[in-house]
Amino acid sequence: MGKKLLLKDAHIEGIKHFDVYRKHGGYEAVEKAFKMTPEEILEEVKTSGLRGRGGAGFPTGLKWSFLAKPEGVPRHLVVNADESEPGTFKDRYLMEYLPHLLIEGMIISSFCLGANVSYIYIRGEYAWIPEILETAIEEAKAAGFLGKNILGSGFDLEIYVQRGAGAYICGEETALLESLEGKRGNPRLKPPFPAVKGLWERPTVVNNVESIAAVVPVINITGAEYAKIGVGRSTGTKLISACGNINNPGVYEIDMSLSVEEFIYSDEYCGGIKDGKKLKACIPGGASVPILPANLLLKTINGEPRLMSYESLADGGFATGSSMGSGGFEILDEDQCIVEHTMTLSRFYAHESCGQCTPCREGTPWMYKILKKIEQGQGTLDDIDLLWDIQRKIEGNTICPLGDAAAWPVAAAIRHFRDEFEWHVKNPELSQNQNYGLAAYADPIPVPQAQA
Ligand code: SF4
Repeated sequence: MGKKLLLKDAHIEGIKHFDVYRKHGGYEAVEKAFKMTPEEILEEVKTSGLRGRGGAGFPTGLKWSFLAKPEGVPRHLVVNADESEPGTFKDRYLMEYLPHLLIEGMIISSFCLGANVSYIYIRGEYAWIPEILETAIEEAKAAGFLGKNILGSGFDLEIYVQRGAGAYICGEETALLESLEGKRGNPRLKPPFPAVKGLWERPTVVNNVESIAAVVPVINITGAEYAKIGVGRSTGTKLISACGNINNPGVYEIDMSLSVEEFIYSDEYCGGIKDGKKLKACIPGGASVPILPANLLLKTINGEPRLMSYESLADGGFATGSSMGSGGFEILDEDQCIVEHTMTLSRFYAHESCGQCTPCREGTPWMYKILKKIEQGQGTLDDIDLLWDIQRKIEGNTICPLGDAAAWPVAAAIRHFRDEFEWHVKNPELSQNQNYGLAAYADPIPVPQAQA
């Protein structure tokens, strides 16, 4: 059984309510943190090696240390709960079953950052979760853990939950801040970064749900002990949402020294490939990270077992590796068509582009149209080269990472599965006879509009 820090109490009945959570050691980390200075808490988080769990994997303590502290200007903590990356649903699990873990982490983090008003920005599709969070906030407030002068510390904190309206782009931190301010969720040009000018131009830290929840065990067991778990710079535990053609889809807490092979085949985790089929490929970190074929997934290019760590998943760069990303682990079996799968993802990114930058606005629907053409047996070999060329021209040439997120899956699919693209071109009749439910894609996708 792997070590559990976040989900250890998730099975306890009633744990989403304050009394039960408290009975099982809840809010002890807050009591401990209030005996420390904000600087000491920051040092613990830095020592822990905790990295952002939303996708980029940036060290949390370092991010916090960038927060500007101009005299008399309020600061904010904003929790990014806009979990919209296809295949990723681990934050939903945390908020639904352990809302007080997030609230507790927010109290400690806000105290460390000097933020007296903090927010949870949650995706609109998680329609039933704001009520769970708001109930937890009310319970914590009634018990004296939120509001004025928490536990006699002199520290005040209010937490508000804000629902998004369902745009993927609002998961990008500056688009999220725009949306939180009541505007259209368009990403901002950076710099300035949120740590200097964030919410209402005030210094702001935006962190993922899991990152903030992980602050609780960091304080409870100390940063040094937390850093002993895992491997290399992948310290602590990580939540993985596993889906696709596996026997046991779900959310798992892993020690990142676990091998990918054990994660896929062990009954403790994914339980192997469904219906005894062969493993074909995996997208290990949410839809935007490169797909890996089975041979590169299980071993690194040096023949070492690939681990479920930031470094090991990225080993070899994007030529032979991928990324931990958001922890959305999707398995594809031998029957899955990579061209069809890539086309589906491409349609998603084209739909979600905000339209501000030309390469993303024009390139994402263009890639989708070419993929659809190839998938339906109407493409040419030149179309595959054109597709490669378009993704190259999107990557790195946009305001926000959505452009990269749209380009990388296409690049990796062609890099590792070019033969499948060519099969569709060379076998038009067989391609057309495949039934992947293409009626769902019959309508033209809404083309994003450029902003004035
Ligand atoms: Fe908008 Fe796409 Fe540009 Fe991001 S990359 S700002 S989503 S157009």
